[in-house]
Amino acid sequence: MTDTARRPRPTRRSWAEPFRIKMVEKVPVTTREQREKAIREAGYNTFLLRSEDVYIDLLTDSGTSAMSDWQWAGMMLGDEAYAGSRNFYHLEEKVQQYYGYRYVVPTHQGRGAEHLISRILIKPGDVIPGNMYFTTTRLHQELAGGRFVDVIIPDAHEPQNEHPFKGNVDLAKLKSVIEEHGAKRIPYVSIAGTVNMAGGQPFSLENLRAVRELTNKHGIRIILDATRVVENAYFIQQREPGYEHRPVAAIVKEICSLTDGCTMSAKKDSLVNIGGFLALNEQDVYEEARNLVVVFEGLHTYGGMAGRDMEAVARGIEESMDDDHIRARVGQVYYLGNLLRDWGVPIVLPVGGHGVFLDAKAMLPHVEQEHYPAQALAAAIYVDSGVRSMERGTVSAGRKKETGEEYRPKLELVRLTIPRRVYTQAHMDVVAESVYFVHQERERIRGLKMVYEPRYLRFFQARFEPL
Ligand SMILES: *Cc1c(COP(=O)(O)O)cnc(C)c1O
Repeated sequence: MTDTARRPRPTRRSWAEPFRIKMVEKVPVTTREQREKAIREAGYNTFLLRSEDVYIDLLTDSGTSAMSDWQWAGMMLGDEAYAGSRNFYHLEEKVQQYYGYRYVVPTHQGRGAEHLISRILIKPGDVIPGNMYFTTTRLHQELAGGRFVDVIIPDAHEPQNEHPFKGNVDLAKLKSVIEEHGAKRIPYVSIAGTVNMAGGQPFSLENLRAVRELTNKHGIRIILDATRVVENAYFIQQREPGYEHRPVAAIVKEICSLTDGCTMSAKKDSLVNIGGFLALNEQDVYEEARNLVVVFEGLHTYGGMAGRDMEAVARGIEESMDDDHIRARVGQVYYLGNLLRDWGVPIVLPVGGHGVFLDAKAMLPHVEQEHYPAQALAAAIYVDSGVRSMERGTVSAGRKKETGEEYRPKLELVRLTIPRRVYTQAHMDVVAESVYFVHQERERIRGLKMVYEPRYLRFFQARFEPL
């Protein structure tokens, strides 16, 4: 045998990044004692930690991504006119070009758009079916007097089920919701790309087409939550027959063409620190939104964003649609997910588009759901390594509007969310090693009791104490 034949050979091709680092930011390195004190002071809620006490911040991918030099250059071209900023027209052009909707209303972030569309389309007593709830989306539907009904396929509630499109709508269920309530009580069906609460799971175009056909029959709109639709489109390219050679941008356009409008948190896919928009095809709904945005966000040519921020969104949209970018983005998430999976840590499968979701129920069977196992697990990981994650389980699910009882979601998860273009592969190794270590010691983790509970979106500000 020759020397070269004996050398180890790689078994895979790397997902490597299509960029290099031009500026760095120092991150704090803390001791275990400091972290124990910090989490106690934060009421065992990672949302209440100071970022100064966090080493690797995987709380969220929202507004935490790194902008490119091209986006930063655009920031210098901000036109801060109160009305008619050129950056608004650039943003409008990019939304029309890449998402394909006719009308664009800028908002300060995603929930601003959700607020507007909910207020305009939902009447008290209405029902809004959706492929699993999202916290702010459902809250705005409820505040407008509506009620959310989950119509995602049952596979989405099973962490180990490897269905390639766990974000799909259960058509039979949607049909029965329409029969039960009547189309007049359903202002729209709410469809999210890579469903966050299910672990970042995509829908297929085949499924969306079927939803479109059914809703067309009844004259019901589809409003897309486009927050992570580029990631969803990437999964379609990778998994759905017939799409393997289509650019991600073309798939995004096709998805949007099957819907009537979208709400967008540009803080995710679009690679900015702040921003969002509502995009629509119907002129009368648009006119109402353009009027209401003035009341709640700002004039219809800035909607709560500075001109420079709109420029960063316009450029971010373009960068987000690049196939090399999205392959590396999801590739990094898969790198972390595969490490954990290979080491026997229970995670939601398939690995999601924006993060790795730990199955806290499987990891901590000795902690009752009423004692918030996912919340306790997130706190334990932080204490171990300074890695900040977040709870996506009972605390996030909140209480039922009618009875005040806590929801008991099937999924009790901890989300390790990866910001785009921010951390290195070595950082991912540190995260995996810490989660592995905590998993080895899992029997020592005890549950929590809630000692302070805010009325809305309690997971952001609730406080806990160990049992
Ligand atoms: C973040 C998010 C929102 C809300 O957007 P914000 O910019 O945080 O207001 C809505 N839907 C999904 C799926 C999200 O992830």
